[in-house]
Amino acid sequence: MTGRAGGEKGTAAPAAAPSVAGVEWHPDPAGEMEAVIGLEIHVQLRTREKLFCADVPEFGVDPNTRVCPVCLGLPGALPVLNREAVELAMRAALGFGCTIHQRSVFERKNYFYPDLPKGYQISQFEEPLATGGLLEVRMGEDGQETFPVRIRRMHLEEDAGKSIHDRVPDRTAVDLNRTGTPLVEMVSEPDLRSPAQVRAYLDQVKRILEYLDVSDCNMEEGSLRVDANVSIRPRGSRELGTKTELKNLNSFSGVERALEVEIARQVALVRSGGQVTHETLLWDERRQTVRSMRSKEDSQDYRYFPDPDLPPVLVSPAWIQAARDALPELPEARRTRFVEAYSLPAYDAGVLTARRPLADFYEAVVRAHSDGDAKEVANWVMGPVLALANTRSREVEALGLEPEGLAELLALVSEGRVNRRAARTILERMVESGAGGAGTPEAIMEAEGLAQVSDDGRIQEWVHEVVAAHPDEVARFRSGERRLQGFFMGEVMKRSRGKADPGEVARILGARLKGV
Ligand code: ADP
Ligand code: MG
Repeated sequence: MTGRAGGEKGTAAPAAAPSVAGVEWHPDPAGEMEAVIGLEIHVQLRTREKLFCADVPEFGVDPNTRVCPVCLGLPGALPVLNREAVELAMRAALGFGCTIHQRSVFERKNYFYPDLPKGYQISQFEEPLATGGLLEVRMGEDGQETFPVRIRRMHLEEDAGKSIHDRVPDRTAVDLNRTGTPLVEMVSEPDLRSPAQVRAYLDQVKRILEYLDVSDCNMEEGSLRVDANVSIRPRGSRELGTKTELKNLNSFSGVERALEVEIARQVALVRSGGQVTHETLLWDERRQTVRSMRSKEDSQDYRYFPDPDLPPVLVSPAWIQAARDALPELPEARRTRFVEAYSLPAYDAGVLTARRPLADFYEAVVRAHSDGDAKEVANWVMGPVLALANTRSREVEALGLEPEGLAELLALVSEGRVNRRAARTILERMVESGAGGAGTPEAIMEAEGLAQVSDDGRIQEWVHEVVAAHPDEVARFRSGERRLQGFFMGEVMKRSRGKADPGEVARILGARLKGV
């Protein structure tokens, strides 16, 4: 990877460089500037209840129906910390190698905004739950290159509500259902150097969070939100330039795109003798451009102070240890294990461990097909099974395909009872009919007459018919056009309606074509 401002795009020929929303993309051909990026990721924890009250957060319900005196900040209401949120936040922090602090403190972050009924957000500031994590991010074609991103801190805080601009004509309304929902904020050091690196980092963070099962990580529903801080500086400099903070980033590709645009803007500005101002910018997805939201507050503007209603959070070493012991196997470890235990190429292991349910599915098939070849299972899962999922816009685990069913099908293949082509047809039937509808692979094979024909006599007959029907091709083959072998194979398979044993066909056909 290049680490150049603008990432891979920075190395593209200037002629091919895109023009972005009126800002000419500067490929920075001399490579004299580099981008510096740090991310703040807000992860909604999948607790049952809110952080300091017993409301049950739910997405998509009527506005202001999941609120109570505590999250509305009514006078006299007192917050009580949700233990489950601490548990999930600890698990998340441990998953990124952070140190959990036995004592952390909730503080009030004071600011005025219509979606913040109390006039302050309860967050952690001076003494966060966890600090000092590290993530080795994989990148490159086969994921063999890595670069480190340090995690500065992970702290607990409550979410704010939401302003709604499209519900009441000419008015902005407010929905406080989300108020008080538990978040963990994950702050990286400014270790990222290009939008492409940011994308790789985000993909990996999300994968780990999913493996940890601490959040549903749904960006559309706002359970994963990213703010990106970015500055530029002369390459080789160790000082940080003035940064801007990008908000309103609604997808990972939006984050990438917004950073490309903003880096180009900063480079153009500095090149023309200007200076970057410290401000918060809103990404406009439709216009593909940024606009200024406000000049950036400093932390003293928030008048942080420890929340007098909440005692410090104390977690015992035993609790931390228990959380550590309960960590699931994480993607990196699983990937390595797949390579070692199943002799898979690194690429396959990467694809199969990209999502925990997919990795679970793969392993369940391998277990059920225990006398089979794990690489063969990988080929089937990564090939036909993922293809079926893609055409249906579903995840593999939502196809209604039981791992045991797939294992049975693969057993039919390895026993030579169906060939691969027929097995694909059976697989499609299994998926079309949902769980068990059309019966076992064997039943489908029988019902559709898909059993493989290895019978010498039948295959001889088909070969004979094909050879007789194509005298010209036979002559060409015999005068040296060997690639016609494929044509004859295809014709025989067609005649057998896909059922002939391809190995037998090749053998008989070979002998027949050679002979007179
Ligand atoms: P602020 O006080 O503006 O919130 P912080 O120091 O708390 O800034 O950092 C917030 C985020 O911004 C972190 O992810 C950090 O890595 C990143 N960051 C800080 N300074 C810079 C910079 N000069 N360029 C790019 N990112 C930065
Ligand atoms: Mg900050």
